[in-house]
Amino acid sequence: MDSQTVPKKSVLKINEIYLSLQGESTWAGRPCAFVRLTGCSLRCSWCDTAYAFYGGKDQGLEEVLEKVKSFGVGLVEITGGEPLEQEGVYPLMGSLLALGFGVLLETSGAVDLGRVPREVVKIMDIKCPGSGEEARNLWDNLGKLVPGQDEVKFVLKDRADYDYARAVVEKRGLAGPFTVLFSPSHEELEAVVLSEWILKDRLPVRLNLQLHKYIWPSETRGR
Ligand code: SF4
Repeated sequence: MDSQTVPKKSVLKINEIYLSLQGESTWAGRPCAFVRLTGCSLRCSWCDTAYAFYGGKDQGLEEVLEKVKSFGVGLVEITGGEPLEQEGVYPLMGSLLALGFGVLLETSGAVDLGRVPREVVKIMDIKCPGSGEEARNLWDNLGKLVPGQDEVKFVLKDRADYDYARAVVEKRGLAGPFTVLFSPSHEELEAVVLSEWILKDRLPVRLNLQLHKYIWPSETRGR
């Protein structure tokens, strides 16, 4: 989006803005500013950000941009909740790109990606049966991802989820165009068990651990 077209009076319901290390995806380990938007219409059984369903504070676009700039890093992740449920996310993404930030977007896969700028790196979930939200997958979104740039993530709770995810990857040919992330649901599926399944099947996917939960295990917010 052209920065000239960005509405200056845009308001977002912000849950938190903070600096941390990117914890998931191929960007894991990089210093990153996080903008967490309030609200999500899904209720994944293993959701670890339920605190972002409600509350938060209204902040103007300029205020959010100033806070992000204050961290002095070139990478920013927009997350939630489900960030695409707020209209203000579009001017936010456009402004961050216009300012030269690398922009990552964590999204549930349940909201249409059609209006997300191509340059934004989408890290899109596909919900497995164990989440209880499998019916919300918008399969058309797969055609809106950018090959070689965007990533597809499955959070797995058990063997049934693994079998489901493996079948989706194979049937839809995801592992060629995209990095495919298999993430064990924290405290529900052991990383070693998932690793052995991946190795046994020689699956061309990437084991995705939530790095921040190993570095700051007692922290639930702001990391
Ligand atoms: S989509 Fe994300 S924020 Fe929403 S319930 Fe599922 S895990 Fe939580």
